[in-house]
Amino acid sequence: MGIIRRMGGVGAMQKQLREMEAGILEKLKSVSAMEELNEIRVRFLGKKGELTGVLRGMGALSPEERPVIGQLANEVRARVESELEKRLSELKAMARNARLARENIDVTLPGTVFDTGGLHPLTTVSRQIEDIFIGLGFSVAEGPEIELDYYNFEALNLPKDHPARDMQDTFFIGPEVLLRTHTSPVQVRTMERTAPGLPVKIIAPGKVYRRDDDATHSPMFHQVEGLAIGSRITFGDLKGVLQVFARQMFGPETKTKFRPSFFPFTEPSAEVDISCGMCGGKGCRVCSHTGWLEILGCGMVHPRVLEMSGYNPEEVTGFAFGMGVERIALLKYDIDDMRLLFDNDMRFLEQF
Ligand SMILES: [Zn+2]
Repeated sequence: MGIIRRMGGVGAMQKQLREMEAGILEKLKSVSAMEELNEIRVRFLGKKGELTGVLRGMGALSPEERPVIGQLANEVRARVESELEKRLSELKAMARNARLARENIDVTLPGTVFDTGGLHPLTTVSRQIEDIFIGLGFSVAEGPEIELDYYNFEALNLPKDHPARDMQDTFFIGPEVLLRTHTSPVQVRTMERTAPGLPVKIIAPGKVYRRDDDATHSPMFHQVEGLAIGSRITFGDLKGVLQVFARQMFGPETKTKFRPSFFPFTEPSAEVDISCGMCGGKGCRVCSHTGWLEILGCGMVHPRVLEMSGYNPEEVTGFAFGMGVERIALLKYDIDDMRLLFDNDMRFLEQF
């Protein structure tokens, strides 16, 4: 009885092990996630797993029977483990292939085109103006845009009641503080800083502000003003410098014409015209059929201005000039409305 029961025990355990193995191998075929593989490993091979459970029943076997079941159990464990490993590497390969397929790059697709920036026409023209005058030995000076009445007007021979103040519609911030209407205060500040009697040769580029807004005026615009002070500086020097500037800016054929004018801070004063580059001086729409285009104002520094800035007008002379950068840009690029320069319309700006 005992032997039959025990033999029955061995046979039943062998059957149980083989069925367990077959069931697991079958299950492995349909596993699609690595987490499932781990569950199977724990359920079968773990400390509280099914195989361990079967082996626990070995205590009831005879010493001769134990190795039979032990060997079979080892074989089953080895086969299941190797199948688990095989399936694991298959799943890993599948996952890797899926990722590669997902991240596949079609190198024949057109690339992403990034917009590249460009210089604004006003920046280009400002830099050209600066380069020309730097080439003539001028240096660049800067000053505040919020300015004192004294530097903007009084030190330039424009006392509080001077009628020429009306020519520059001013944004006042307080009784003595304003947005500068020209870059001339930079000239005064530079003269003040320079030791008395020493020569000055600067240009002052920058933003200026006036209460104007139409096709040819903007409440904010850019000026470049120039100032040269020294002994024996004459109107001839002024003409020479501005002729060189006009030819370099508008082309070697450009002619210049000086017309008498009035500014409170220069004496004598002149407006400078250049020959119209559009028609070569014959007359056209751009030059209002005169053949000439006005580009800047200039003159010899007024003795009173020199005096107020600490110079002796008996010892030194000087010239000054000032131009609107927008005006130069409009002429250079044949633009008929100044507001286009400030609208930031890409269709306009992309043309430069
Ligand atoms: Zn013309």
